[in-house]
Amino acid sequence: MKANEIMAALEAKHPGEAEFLQAAREVLETVEEEYNKHPEFEKAKIVERMVEPDRIFTFRVTWVDDKGEIQTNLGYRVQFNSAIGPYKGGLRFHKAVNLSMLKFLGFEQTFKNALTTLPMGGGKGGSDFDPVGKSNEEIMRFCQAFMLELWRNIGPDTDVPAGDVGVGGREIGFLYGMYKKLAREYNTGVLTGKGETWGGSILRPEATGFGALYFVNHVLETAGQKLAGKTVALSGFGNVAWGAAIKATELGAKVVAISGPDGVCEIKDGITKEMIDYMLVMRASNRNKVQDMADKFPAAAKFTAGKKAWSIKCDIALPCAFQNELNENDAKELIANGTMCCCEVSNMGCTAEAIHTFQKAGILFAPGKAVNAGGVATSGLEMTQNAAHLAWSGEEVDAKLKWIMSSIHEQCVRYGKKADGTIDYVKGANVAGFMKVATAMLEQGTI
Ligand code: GLU
Repeated sequence: MKANEIMAALEAKHPGEAEFLQAAREVLETVEEEYNKHPEFEKAKIVERMVEPDRIFTFRVTWVDDKGEIQTNLGYRVQFNSAIGPYKGGLRFHKAVNLSMLKFLGFEQTFKNALTTLPMGGGKGGSDFDPVGKSNEEIMRFCQAFMLELWRNIGPDTDVPAGDVGVGGREIGFLYGMYKKLAREYNTGVLTGKGETWGGSILRPEATGFGALYFVNHVLETAGQKLAGKTVALSGFGNVAWGAAIKATELGAKVVAISGPDGVCEIKDGITKEMIDYMLVMRASNRNKVQDMADKFPAAAKFTAGKKAWSIKCDIALPCAFQNELNENDAKELIANGTMCCCEVSNMGCTAEAIHTFQKAGILFAPGKAVNAGGVATSGLEMTQNAAHLAWSGEEVDAKLKWIMSSIHEQCVRYGKKADGTIDYVKGANVAGFMKVATAMLEQGTI
């Protein structure tokens, strides 16, 4: 396989799918060497098949807003790859959602899910519905209209959606309620990220952030460093940043920044429990403004409009919000300010140029598909609990999450260890996830 040739063909076939092409290029370039040691993959055209989704559903979602006006959005579900299990991956509600974004996310999800050690294929879905400024009733009506189309294509053993940007416990509740009404099936395993009283796994809301910090800890320890005492800048203030803030603080680090589309809040003395709790209120308000934190805690948080979290001096940068939210200039600014580690908690949080800048400068860097896999892994644990009709305690789930993150780290080390002993986590994560999916596809024949 020649990554460049396959990429040229993909670019010609899907022009304009910038995010998807970026994600595909990163994977193909890093797996090329290992792939070419396996002529059986080449013969079975594994990579040519892997870059195309199994199928894509696109549908219209029509709903009525609070003023009584009819609104129409687009809905999607990309069932990317089922080689190692039922399609699994979140739903993203965001005004910028398009097919390229969901294809990139579904592609990433396929390898991420393979890394979790659990039998889950890759999928992703969502809508260009913009939750900002919507009332709870509008969110409910939209979720119900969305499920009116989606329900025929999902199921506990076929495709299991969950949350992502713009979709949290509240939205999963509305989606699940409508699914039951339509399907007349009461199998809770059809969606994950549910409430604790109706099949949700304890710790699922925290899991992405917790898992990320367990991973960061492994990265630092492997490099002879410690998390305790380090300053951390987080972007975003949603579910992922919230879990990361809790665990970073618990492990002795100091969270000195959170951000939003409107700017950054610098928190010199470190985020407090009250502030972390307030992040939940901010998310539920649908305002999408981080300035609300500074308004609520004026003595502790200083808001600067139009600035990113990466403008704040920190030891560790953790993108927790959106793809490509940290670019080359941000990477340079962080490095100049003494940052020694950047781990993507959002999916593809850094541009390709930013990653190269970090790697060239010897900054510890790890990609989202390894760092944030604790979220979907805990979704996988939720599916297991639902299938067995039981509920594990928080301690049981946390112990399993810790083990999974440590296993993901081991897989990255196995495939990413360089001659000088340092770890290329991008290569390690991509090759480890790829090998598992490729082997499964090979063994299942030409389909
Ligand atoms: N949206 C999350 C991710 O990017 C979680 C998906 C899930 O739990 O299925 O991995």
